[in-house]
Amino acid sequence: MGGSFITEQITTPVLAEYDVVVAGGGASGLVAAVAAARAGARTAIVERSGCLGGTATVGMVAQWVGFFNGSVRVVGGIGYELTQRVTALGGSEGFRSYTMAEASSQPITITNFPFNPEVVKIAADEIAREAGVDVLLHSHVVRPLVAGDRVEGLVLENVSGRGALRARMVVDASGDAALAARAGVPCEGEDPGFRRRRQPCTLVFRMSNVDVRTFRALPREQKRALALAGVQEGRLFWESLSFCSTPGDTDAVCLMSRISGIDALDAGDLSRAEQIGRQQVQSIVQFLRECVPGFERSVLGGIAQRVGVRETRRIVGQHTLTEAEIVEGVRFTDAVALGAGPMDLHEPGGTGIALWMPPTPFEIPLACQLPSSVEGIVVTGRAISATREANGGARHMGTAMGLGHAAGVYAALAAKGEATLREPAAHKVREVLREQGALVSADDAVTAAANDAPMMARAA
Ligand SMILES: Cc1cc2nc3c(=O)[nH]c(=O)nc-3n(C[C@H](O)[C@H](O)[C@H](O)COP(=O)(O)OP(=O)(O)OC[C@H]3O[C@@H](n4cnc5c(N)ncnc54)[C@H](O)[C@@H]3O)c2cc1C
Repeated sequence: MGGSFITEQITTPVLAEYDVVVAGGGASGLVAAVAAARAGARTAIVERSGCLGGTATVGMVAQWVGFFNGSVRVVGGIGYELTQRVTALGGSEGFRSYTMAEASSQPITITNFPFNPEVVKIAADEIAREAGVDVLLHSHVVRPLVAGDRVEGLVLENVSGRGALRARMVVDASGDAALAARAGVPCEGEDPGFRRRRQPCTLVFRMSNVDVRTFRALPREQKRALALAGVQEGRLFWESLSFCSTPGDTDAVCLMSRISGIDALDAGDLSRAEQIGRQQVQSIVQFLRECVPGFERSVLGGIAQRVGVRETRRIVGQHTLTEAEIVEGVRFTDAVALGAGPMDLHEPGGTGIALWMPPTPFEIPLACQLPSSVEGIVVTGRAISATREANGGARHMGTAMGLGHAAGVYAALAAKGEATLREPAAHKVREVLREQGALVSADDAVTAAANDAPMMARAA
């Protein structure tokens, strides 16, 4: 668009000063903010949407994955507390056994935590309020405040205008490394040849009045045949009839659209993605109602406020997590979070998906969240330093919460001068995380698994 420029001279008021400001209120940002506040930091969270929860709420992806590897639970602390809060509010019936991508060529059975996204919004408000986090919604983070090689806050814009928040530490939980990239942290995934070869986006939608049990009971071959027929007829867009069900099995939250060739760091592409997504939803809804048992009397109950983005940029941090490290279960002395999988990489242009479970839980070191040279910022969630393949297994929301917990604790310690890039004090971060109930090493997960045995028996 356009080739000319204007020069603006802007004087921006400083709105407030904090120990920790978290940019982005999704799975990882919400947990980071609560963790920082519970660790004693004066904390604010800035989110562009009207609610917290990120992809779980605004994106309507209504199941948390990444809490369990087989029968071993890998996320404790604030993330696990959130599952209990959502259940207590009536937003979920707890962990369930679930077949992912059930009509694809390689479905796998995992443990998920399906929920009603509206209740997650309420639980997120509650946990943030009780922790004393200042929540600023409808506020778009525009850029970091940078002095030399240090981030000292951020600039935001909202209906009140433009303002700055000063902070001793900033947590980049935008999913896009939006602040880190602007602060000069090197990033992967921006190479022009690759920008439109990212994993496809998905616009999630909700079908009400579905007979979920009838659909789930269909033989897998029948589901696969339906999916393949739908793709062949051009009415479905990938070989899956993936959906998660809300409590009571009344509604199907459908992850069935697939929008390829989108660079979600380009506003024009993102706009196109929303519109193509809605066209696909219209086609899929007709197909479901006409051809798929269980959906005959269903109605379109809602479309996510924002298209789901699987991949943009990731920082290149002090350590880059690899798929080999995940598969081999490499142990790290600075491990601060655990991943469970599944490894989940969608084919950029086609209709396929690579989906498999790592053999054991895997450790993620703090070094994946820290830049090499820019102080004052820690990155969490989808944008941590990991190869593309490793990120396929580390981007689930359960893992994002574990990482958010670590980022929040690190930020609180760094704000007090007890951790720096050179001396990240991982032992101290791990100590505080464990005090807050987090699972930070493979050994912690094994211990938790023993305590969880009765719960898993109920979920099966
Ligand atoms: C279609 C799809 C299906 C998926 N399926 C599953 C699944 O079934 N289960 C699962 O566990 N995971 C799933 N994932 C993965 C998972 O949802 C994400 O990887 C995860 O949410 C990452 O957490 P996050 O906190 O980094 O990002 P998000 O949850 O996306 O949160 C980022 C937040 O930052 C905010 N933000 C971004 N930029 C700004 C800005 N400039 N200013 C202010 N706010 C900003 C956003 O609005 C958002 O709230 C799926 C992802 C997609 C896209």
